[in-house]
Amino acid sequence: MATTLIRGGRVLDPASGTDRVIDVLIQGDRVSKIDENLPADGAEIIDATGLIVCPGLIDPHVHLREPGQEHKETILTGSQAAVAGGFTTICCMPNTSPTLDSPEIVRFIFDQARFAKCRVFPVAAGTVGRAGERMTEIRLLARAGAVGISDDGDVIASAGVMKSVFTATAAAGLVFMQHCQEPTLTRGAAMHAGGISTQLGLTGWPGIAEEIIIERDVRLLSVAPCRYHVQHLSCAGSIEIIRIAQVNGLPVTAEASPHHLLLTDEACLGYDTSAKMNPPLREQSDMQAIRKGIADGIITILATDHAPHTPDEKSLPFADAPFGIIGLETAVAGYAQALVETGHIDWPKMVELMTINPARLCNLDQANLGEDGLGELREGGLADITLIDPAHEWAVTEADLEGQSRNTPFLGRQFAARSVLTMVGGEVRHSRLSVSTAS
Ligand SMILES: [Zn+2]
Repeated sequence: MATTLIRGGRVLDPASGTDRVIDVLIQGDRVSKIDENLPADGAEIIDATGLIVCPGLIDPHVHLREPGQEHKETILTGSQAAVAGGFTTICCMPNTSPTLDSPEIVRFIFDQARFAKCRVFPVAAGTVGRAGERMTEIRLLARAGAVGISDDGDVIASAGVMKSVFTATAAAGLVFMQHCQEPTLTRGAAMHAGGISTQLGLTGWPGIAEEIIIERDVRLLSVAPCRYHVQHLSCAGSIEIIRIAQVNGLPVTAEASPHHLLLTDEACLGYDTSAKMNPPLREQSDMQAIRKGIADGIITILATDHAPHTPDEKSLPFADAPFGIIGLETAVAGYAQALVETGHIDWPKMVELMTINPARLCNLDQANLGEDGLGELREGGLADITLIDPAHEWAVTEADLEGQSRNTPFLGRQFAARSVLTMVGGEVRHSRLSVSTAS
């Protein structure tokens, strides 16, 4: 049995409150011991001095494009980007072709994921074809292994359908993840509605279109209770609605994406399509409000919304280019820059928002899966572990990117932290350290 000793790192496990410089011994696919001065006894040694050792990072919101758009990304290439960014588990959205709306396609994802570099769990659609009309067989999707329900890419616009989906999702024990975009207010929209969209002559996507959906859904939850999660929250007004819902005891959570924490609509100047995303980049005040919403504990999950597209697609005129940017490989660096380096939160909190909180959202934690539970670093648990260098100066280059697509507005950006080793089930799947990697 392969044995590895991660020596002398700052071990952060938010679930147990651990924050100590200590050793971690891994035997086979499990963490066998966490203690001071563990003997090497022939184990392969990883020197983690100065590094953070934490549970493997979990991203509950990625787009892997398989099936149907494998020229952008596949489950395999997306998982390569994931481990390069420190993620050991990713949850993929259902806006594939065909849509992830049947148990067969959910099982197809698990079949393909056997070859992936990290763990992959599908989020299945709430309506057939994500068309917003006919509900999917949510109970069967859950039984096939779906870890959440979402029509991401689109909102479920009909309140009646939404209510039924909430009821069925709750009965299946899953979370509903909403892409909050009122469609009649955002027809043909390409970017945030403001001074810059006017200047560029582009149709605007106002923040109120996000707020209206959250407000509606919060009202629906009082008659159709369900765990409800706001995806890629983009504007200040949304946070206040969520805060009040939480104060009223409703099971509402929210996630923030790196780009909404680091960029504003000014990035669209010059018609730069690498800054085109949905929901769009907004204003400085929104960006600051999202950072504060995280510091205040209203937004408790970080998620990349990794959305690969080809250079040809992103070369289209701004109004026609597809929405979205890749995110897995720059996420740790980006969150650290927006949140830790600015003093909004500390490293233990950032790790919590990227491990145990998304694990609980998607029922991947110990309470649901027992010893195979994810999101924690504990003796007897699965050895999914990420090492982060909190003092690693680097600038993003195309050569750094290991997924299939390159569409990121962060090329050339300087960062000061980086994931440096990713271990999945006791195997090193990616490393920037000088250790031998198991194949
Ligand atoms: Zn979305």
